[in-house]
Amino acid sequence: MRVTPCQAALAGAIGLNLLLLYCAWRGPGGSPPSCRPPRGVPGITVLLRDFEDFENDLAGTARSFASLPVPVLVVAETAPYPPVPLPAEVGLLPLRPAADRPPPLAHPELHIRTRHVALVPDGTRAVPGLLERMRDALEGGGAASNVRLVAAPVGSAPLQCLELRLEPREWTARYGDGAPGVCRAVEGTAVLLLRTRDLFALPFPLARPVPTALFIQAAFRGWGLRVMPAAFPAARRPPVSPHGRWKAENLAETRRRRLMRDLGIKLEVLADGQERWYGCGKETVRCFGTVHARTPEYILAGRWTPPCCLRALRETARHVTGVLEAAGVRYWLEGGSLLGAARLGDIIPWDYDVDLGIYQEDVGKCRWLAAAAAGEPVEDAEGFLWEKAAEGDFYRVHYSRSNRLHVDLWPFYPRGGVMTKDTWLGHPQDVEFPESFLRPRVPMLFAGFTAMAPNNARAFLELKFGPGAIENPEYPNPAIKRLEQD
Ligand code: ZN
Ligand code: MG
Repeated sequence: MRVTPCQAALAGAIGLNLLLLYCAWRGPGGSPPSCRPPRGVPGITVLLRDFEDFENDLAGTARSFASLPVPVLVVAETAPYPPVPLPAEVGLLPLRPAADRPPPLAHPELHIRTRHVALVPDGTRAVPGLLERMRDALEGGGAASNVRLVAAPVGSAPLQCLELRLEPREWTARYGDGAPGVCRAVEGTAVLLLRTRDLFALPFPLARPVPTALFIQAAFRGWGLRVMPAAFPAARRPPVSPHGRWKAENLAETRRRRLMRDLGIKLEVLADGQERWYGCGKETVRCFGTVHARTPEYILAGRWTPPCCLRALRETARHVTGVLEAAGVRYWLEGGSLLGAARLGDIIPWDYDVDLGIYQEDVGKCRWLAAAAAGEPVEDAEGFLWEKAAEGDFYRVHYSRSNRLHVDLWPFYPRGGVMTKDTWLGHPQDVEFPESFLRPRVPMLFAGFTAMAPNNARAFLELKFGPGAIENPEYPNPAIKRLEQD
């Protein structure tokens, strides 16, 4: 019997459908690995993910690529609303789980059968053969290059190649100018092509904004990015209304914040030096919860103090020392803060508060401290909250009422030439010391300003923390976690 190519293709398609039906029937978790086509069928599926529900070009973009023809899938939380007149062959992949449906991404191969996917921004027009050339650029690089992403510009502006360095311990992503050929990210509107299995091996495969989400996850994995010179045309579209632009910008900002939270990034430093902060601020809560056993949760997670928290701590410390100095309250850097000042002139990069000692008899000289001593927490003119600590006989100045990053003020009084106090919390630095360390106090660089410190900081610190305290950094509670474990 002779089989025409058409019949062969039909038989193949039926076979694949039966296989996929079988996979679906086995249900999530039940399918053996052999059930998943390991590499998919040759071809490229276009995913339309980055678009707005309003004033979009979804129908035009989908139609343009569907006519190539390639499979086109609209990927969205739910079906676009108001409905978009999509060509019949364009599918929809709703991402929001629904109780009566299988989990949306448990089996991506049920939706995307091709080996490659292209993430196409709204308002792009297809060019015959260009997706295939992108795929060839991806697969032709050789294994050594580790190119896993290919980008092609949309419109007439070329893509700018960027370097992207991740500092997960510091919650930071740093962009820089990339040398051509070693891009980690691009600036500009782009179509992004990659292997389907690479995309769905990512923890956030379809997070938005798609380019940022992919570049950062790719950089974590050391994936290379190749930039194509050839461009896709941008659609001629009516200008977006001012209200639409405003809505789009707000949504973009919300998405970006959510993405950075998911990716664990609180600071982006752009190639031009501009900074974008995503962590805590004066109006938000602190990034980490109550500290137990002197070990904040981020240390257990292998990270250091979030940059937003360091910034807020520096600002609070500068404010508090300024107020104390103006009021004539004698204070000095204590504990871990003095250690940080001696070691690097700053807060220790994993510290979670700032500690100052004060002369108890000076408390009444500062109106905020006096008010706190009387029992009522009081917010000063700049929004810092002064209070007497519930944990003992000391004071706490919080960054704000909602953000409880704080400076602790430990009142000491002299007795027979020795500085002592009434509350002892059992910390290693919690010991009496000769008052001579404070006669005189000396200025010391700390957290971007000059603070007062005991004279002979080294002797003071070795008295409190033991010999070699400055040279040998250690986490606050080595019994819980040691620095060398990281
Ligand atoms: Zn923070
Ligand atoms: Mg401390």
